[in-house]
Amino acid sequence: MQEIKRVAIKATTQFKAVMAQHFLELDEAARTKNKKVAWCSSVGPAELALSLGFLVYYYENHAAILGTNRTAMDYIPIANAHGYSPDICSYLTSDIGAYLKGETPLTKAYGIEKIPRPDVLLYNTNQCREVYDWVNFYAKEFKVPVVGINTPRTQRQVRDDVVQSVTAQLEEMVPQLEEIAGRPFDIDEFREVLATSRECSRLWEEVLGTAKAKPSTITFSDACIHMGPAVVMRGRKEANEYYRILLAELKERVEQGIGAVEGERHRFYWEGMPIWGKLRMMSDTFGRLKACVSVSTYCSSWVFSGFDPKDPFQSMARAYCSIFIGQDDVGKEDYIAEKVEQFSIDGLIFHDAKTCPSNTNCRYGMADRLSERLGIPHLTINGDLNDLRCFSEEQTITNIEAFVEQIEES
Ligand code: SF4
Repeated sequence: MQEIKRVAIKATTQFKAVMAQHFLELDEAARTKNKKVAWCSSVGPAELALSLGFLVYYYENHAAILGTNRTAMDYIPIANAHGYSPDICSYLTSDIGAYLKGETPLTKAYGIEKIPRPDVLLYNTNQCREVYDWVNFYAKEFKVPVVGINTPRTQRQVRDDVVQSVTAQLEEMVPQLEEIAGRPFDIDEFREVLATSRECSRLWEEVLGTAKAKPSTITFSDACIHMGPAVVMRGRKEANEYYRILLAELKERVEQGIGAVEGERHRFYWEGMPIWGKLRMMSDTFGRLKACVSVSTYCSSWVFSGFDPKDPFQSMARAYCSIFIGQDDVGKEDYIAEKVEQFSIDGLIFHDAKTCPSNTNCRYGMADRLSERLGIPHLTINGDLNDLRCFSEEQTITNIEAFVEQIEES
């Protein structure tokens, strides 16, 4: 097997420090009760919780770690045995399975004995209904309240009445959260957190944007790892400090013409969830074929440019209603088409993730429509975010090789 040369990202040291801080603070809060802990879905009302002094733990992030270290398959059957189907979100089943077994990857990574006990469970159905079912499992286990937002999905456009409803739901959360936090809400603190979170979005978007350069500065696999602080530390100044360091490094790459893939010849778009346990293998496969997955929908999901500290509730509601996953196919296709042009993409990769229909977009004709509209081919990879039993490495490599060959011959 040909060895793949990689240019290491130097900022990885700082990345690890920020992620460690996030988990260690949560662990300390859960053990010493020095702070309250809110669990939150990845595009849930985290900024509101932060402004009330909660530390925020993201249950999907924990599940993604189970996928990355490939322990998810040990835990999914445990959740299945408790009545959670193998066909539903494997984030949910692996996370609940790990809880039922009393294990967490945080032990090995940070010496943390168990996941931090929540004081409140937050969700937003803007991404899927599964997050609601997920927190309700833990509500019974920990006997803590669930507070959340119900957002309609598959919207042609973000309607004002929907934004008003979500704004009202956010405002209604405040007295409940004040009671749990044991302190009053301060609108100025909320504005400040929102401004910090927006800056994180801006920096993260700029980081991703450096991959427009030829050759691309980073791959999809790199971005999946380095988006960690944008997910779990947004609204905290430490995330912004980290992205300033990473951005400086990537700008240097652009200036010096350093690419993530040596001898880059092809540039792809990744649509759908990552296959967490195969990030390295996928990166090696594309790298060997001189192909770079330069841009993705997934890694841009934590860009909330619409946050406006002057109008915090409404702008946050609008931003969280506007996420890609909540739009209909017309909006999604326009979004992808724009990125394809900006990043000079010559092939689309769709991941058909078995257990996440909400974040799988190739089941209703989108891939064909986009290929026709943009004049570039597409490939569908069958797999899953966490359940590797749905993924064939051999078949996938063969399909990617054939796809690259097809592009080279055209
Ligand atoms: S979007 Fe998909 S992977 Fe994420 S929580 Fe919902 S069902 Fe699970």
